[in-house]
Amino acid sequence: MFGAYRGRVLRIDLSKGKTKAEKVPAEWMLKYLGGRGFGARYYYDEISPIVSPLSSENKLFIMTGPFTGAPVFGPSKSTITTKSPLTNHYFVANASGYFGPNIKFAGYDGLIIEGKAEKPTYISLVEDNLEFRDASQIWGLKTSETQRAIREEIGERRASVACIGPSGEKLAYIACVQADARSYGRGGIGAVMGSKNLKAITILGSSKVEVAKPDELRKLLREEIKALRQTTRDHTRHGTPQYTEVLYELGAYPIENFTRTRVEGGVEGITGQIMREKFLVKDTACYGCPVACGKLCEVREGPWRGLRAELDYEIIWSFGPHCGVYDLNTIIAAVGLSDDFGLDAMSCGYTIGFAMELYERGVINEKDTGGIKLGFGNSDAEIDLLLKIAARQGMGNVYAEGAAKAAESFGRNASYYAMHVKGLEFAAYDPRAFYGMGLAYATSSRGACHNVGGWTIRDELIRPVIDRYAVEGKGRFVKSIQDVRGYIDSIGICTVPRRAMHLTDSPKEDIVNLVTGMDFTGKLLSIGERVYNLERIILNKEGISRRDDTLPTRIMTEPIPDGPAKGHVITPTMMKLMLDEYYTARGWDSNGFVTEETLKRLDIP
Ligand code: SF4
Repeated sequence: MFGAYRGRVLRIDLSKGKTKAEKVPAEWMLKYLGGRGFGARYYYDEISPIVSPLSSENKLFIMTGPFTGAPVFGPSKSTITTKSPLTNHYFVANASGYFGPNIKFAGYDGLIIEGKAEKPTYISLVEDNLEFRDASQIWGLKTSETQRAIREEIGERRASVACIGPSGEKLAYIACVQADARSYGRGGIGAVMGSKNLKAITILGSSKVEVAKPDELRKLLREEIKALRQTTRDHTRHGTPQYTEVLYELGAYPIENFTRTRVEGGVEGITGQIMREKFLVKDTACYGCPVACGKLCEVREGPWRGLRAELDYEIIWSFGPHCGVYDLNTIIAAVGLSDDFGLDAMSCGYTIGFAMELYERGVINEKDTGGIKLGFGNSDAEIDLLLKIAARQGMGNVYAEGAAKAAESFGRNASYYAMHVKGLEFAAYDPRAFYGMGLAYATSSRGACHNVGGWTIRDELIRPVIDRYAVEGKGRFVKSIQDVRGYIDSIGICTVPRRAMHLTDSPKEDIVNLVTGMDFTGKLLSIGERVYNLERIILNKEGISRRDDTLPTRIMTEPIPDGPAKGHVITPTMMKLMLDEYYTARGWDSNGFVTEETLKRLDIP
């Protein structure tokens, strides 16, 4: 009836041990598409602004889109929407892999998890059979051990398992949910699961996702497979680590907590090419994706020899040059441990680098670190602090709450060194080297995020269509990129293969119509815009306004000291001009509130 949609979600009440299948209102499909859009709409209806993130009133909305599990390129995405303990606000995290497709194969568009289990529990959904199972025996296990134990216990080797590790159980605000080999990384979603005594959700379904017009869809994809292979060749070979050298050469690669962009010897030892030549075990792919950008690597020498982890650009940076570390053995070990303990490798690596700067500046000393010399480049100290964060042990306890909260607890000017927006730590891009990224960080619905906020890298740096140092025009530009991301995150596909399906900033909707059997012609961009505005209304209600749409003082006062972007800084005046233009383009008032007129135009409740 709804093409590739299932038309229903499964509500799972952990307090009562009950479940209920509910219809997804049909009009939501054309208005919000799925995934991030559905999650925002459920959150808007069900989570009051005063709900505390780790209370039983918070919920997890795990949503797929119409493309998730469908026979298209990269149909692997699903989202988890919840209130984040890291930011204390609305949050959406997404992951590729197999978990989202399995929700569809089990017959649902999404799962809504509410309440709190009395004791450690995991949910098993095999086909349409749901069980609440005792997780006492697996509480305390790492994520890889948990996934193995659950597959063995239910006797399904192919089951997908999304779980938390010890960090989520200990309610670390930077805990992730590890879904097989991928992560719903950011925002401390793992702590929300931990607060519900929910160790894992395992799903296995076998009901194929049928599309509305399979023959025409097959023909369209056959025509585009060549374009897909051409445009994603570098991803297949080097994955996102291909960008390390590119961003470094452009002077946009932040080093040692955004204090510089140059280093003696450069980044030659950690490029995508070196990763492939010396550390790669195999390429991995998500469900239905011919790109296979996953890069499973192995530590080749040192104390962690043999430990494996999938690498990407961001986490090579967070545990690498951000911490003054240029050895892929250490970086792979850090990522592997972080995944296994259930920590967000971006926030965790970022927070360690932040702590290193505090130490170097004398804001903290060996009394605070328990005798560890925590300076940049100390690989042993990096791993040591990671393990302490994972266990919330000693000095790790405070860093387990992320950089912003750690800074607050230290006082002593520590906040100056925490690069975050709304509590979410920066990603691997220095916004002073391309100003649109600064505006994207400042206005993203979830804090300093380069994805939800808008991946401006391509259009400002790699294939520039706009001057990276321009201020005028950035408001309209960032809004447009965010709206594209709004519909892509709602449709259920990965961003890498989307261009080969013409899902761009001037989308051809044919493929969506063939998959769903509905008419989305001319609607995708406005859906993206609607989703972004719905998120902003939620954030407005939770107290977010213009004063929160800003950047750290360092980024607005200290120019980049070296490299191709030397001397550039986003001053408060530049920020004001970009924000004013952005708010006007969005139809928000000068304080960053969505206006009645905009709500009416976008038909938002
Ligand atoms: S491009 Fe990479 S991340 Fe995206 S679906 Fe394919 S394998 Fe997964």
